[in-house]
Amino acid sequence: MGEFDVITRYFSSLGSGEYVDLSVGDDGAALTVPPNSELIVSTDSSVLDTHFTDDLFPEDLGYKAVASAASDLAAMGAEPLGMTLALTVPSVDDLWLHGLSQGLTRACHEYRLPLVGGDTTRGPLSLTLTVMGFCPRNQKLLRSGAQVGDRVCVSGYLGDAAFGLAVMQGKYRGLEIDFEDQEYLVSRFTHPTARVDLGCRMRKLATSCIDLSDGLLQDAGHVTHASGVRFSIQSGAVPLSSALISAVGEAQALEFALNGGEDYELLFTLPPETDVPDELTVIGTVEAGEGVHCDVMSRGQGYDHFH
Ligand code: ADP
Ligand code: MG
Repeated sequence: MGEFDVITRYFSSLGSGEYVDLSVGDDGAALTVPPNSELIVSTDSSVLDTHFTDDLFPEDLGYKAVASAASDLAAMGAEPLGMTLALTVPSVDDLWLHGLSQGLTRACHEYRLPLVGGDTTRGPLSLTLTVMGFCPRNQKLLRSGAQVGDRVCVSGYLGDAAFGLAVMQGKYRGLEIDFEDQEYLVSRFTHPTARVDLGCRMRKLATSCIDLSDGLLQDAGHVTHASGVRFSIQSGAVPLSSALISAVGEAQALEFALNGGEDYELLFTLPPETDVPDELTVIGTVEAGEGVHCDVMSRGQGYDHFH
């Protein structure tokens, strides 16, 4: 058995799912796309020293890679079908591969994304995931649908993952943080939760959607640009976790929420007459114009972000 056959064996048990007709082992996989729906496809790469460093546990790398890819499906309002993995490794390291497959397995079950195929090569460490999902025809969520008068809403708490990463990097060594809070904040970076079910439920309700991978201001800027509108965001309404506030105070927590990445929460715009679901927080309104405006309360000054 060749060395890459061993790798393939690590991943071949993750391949079954509701929509999978043929999985790992043949020249291609076969999936059933339900009738009257569109196939939604998205690819994400994670490259060592560009997207992650080698102190990230392989379990966390595997989990995060799937969760962030699933988050793109969530942002389209797509239900997961399956995924493929292009893996490049410098050598066959059993312990490392075992860890990676543990993380992939956990996330693959959590997000109903069976691993139906891939490719394995030797070279500098990188992981490329292609996820596939489906949406009833014409119901997919786009960045381009925001309308003047809509409300801007987000799920969850923002900023925790970026602070969790900073903690992992040892940037807050002197700071006294409650142990449970610290565990929670780091886990928001290592085990983000893609809001797949929420994305699907919002299909007929939201006018636009994006997942928050690069920070609220930057990602909101993609929506205003695509929709040809302006967002007015009230900084006091941005949802911040009590763990983050007690760690760094409100002003810095807000800074993490506005500019930090990797929360993988969803931002939606909702028409004025639509009820706001419990798990969403209204943070602003859609106006005529361009760019993202945010009143940063702690500084008494505004913040304009143009994309
Ligand atoms: P081929 O030469 O036809 O591309 P491979 O030897 O590359 O076949 O792969 C054999 C099987 O293993 C294929 O079904 C492929 O999809 C699967 N596979 C290879 N690498 C991976 C991987 N990293 N993750 C999941 N499946 C993989
Ligand atoms: Mg191949």
